[in-house]
Amino acid sequence: MNAPQPEIENVVIIGSGCAGLTAAIYTSRADLRPLVIDGYEPGGQLSLTTMVENFPGFPDGVLGPELIDRMRKQAERFGTRYLEGAVRAVALDRRPFALTLESRTVHTRALIVAAGASARMLGLESERKLLGHGVSSCATCDGYFFREREIAVIGGGDSAMEEATFLTKFASRVTIVHRREEFRATKIMLDRARANPKIRFLTPYVVEDVLDAQKGCVEAVRLRHARTAETMTLPVDGVFLGIGHEPNTQVYRGILDMDEAGYLKTRDHTHTNVPGVFAAGDVADHVYRQAVTAAGSGCRAALDAEKFLTEHP
Ligand code: NAP
Repeated sequence: MNAPQPEIENVVIIGSGCAGLTAAIYTSRADLRPLVIDGYEPGGQLSLTTMVENFPGFPDGVLGPELIDRMRKQAERFGTRYLEGAVRAVALDRRPFALTLESRTVHTRALIVAAGASARMLGLESERKLLGHGVSSCATCDGYFFREREIAVIGGGDSAMEEATFLTKFASRVTIVHRREEFRATKIMLDRARANPKIRFLTPYVVEDVLDAQKGCVEAVRLRHARTAETMTLPVDGVFLGIGHEPNTQVYRGILDMDEAGYLKTRDHTHTNVPGVFAAGDVADHVYRQAVTAAGSGCRAALDAEKFLTEHP
């Protein structure tokens, strides 16, 4: 719903995933009439998953898109408004802050950045089509669905080692496929994976395709040897991408403090270095990355923003 805009918003929330929508529920119940800017991936990463079984309150699980839809409606019920589009530029050097979207500029007294992080993808069409249908970027979320199945984990960093090790709880076998002989992972994580009898390594292999998009489920991956270009097919029931995440923070570079990987730095809970600007969810968290932790930090950012607006009307 695109409602008429006040000249200056109380609080704008950038991002409509779990963190942003929880912040919207809290700020709207505080009568702040928040405006949520949907972003490039409305609903965030949950909208790209299927069944979510670890979000409290859903004993039979809930579909990711349904969970997001429920949160949206819950926030809307208390006066949250939504705006389609993504923020192209921000001016945060004075209040009200100015946010430039494709079609308009929005001014706001407080800002919650909940723009999330996007899982890096290989860029294959089959991978995109099978996301949530055997292709996953979250072992914690989806590992449970692969009991006694064979899985490929793609990547050579700590995430890939961690995911592969975690997935051996469920899978009958995990194959780590990495494009180089050398690993980026820390020695301890690599050694742990190497010592696990359920894990084997295939290097240096590049994933050419995930089969079979036409059937709507994962049956194998087609791999190409990085040096000899020889191809092989590895039969698997699931593919987990462990090739990293990219926080969606490009527009804040040079404005908000961030770490080397681009995650926003917070202090005193959810405060950024700019007073009145708060961060919530995966945009400031490369450690936990769970729906429930994102929701929790959205709540914290909302309470911090509310307090800030009381003290700095
Ligand atoms: P990362 O260190 O950037 O590693 C990403 C891996 O994916 C690399 O091996 C990279 O290959 C591969 N990769 C990237 N793009 C690819 C592509 N298009 N196709 C195939 N392979 C691709 O990311 P991360 O593992 O998520 O770790 C991020 C940070 O979090 C690191 O600092 C890590 O130590 C930390 N972390 C820590 C823990 C822990 O301590 N428990 C757990 C997870 C993450 P190349 O090596 O060839 O570039």
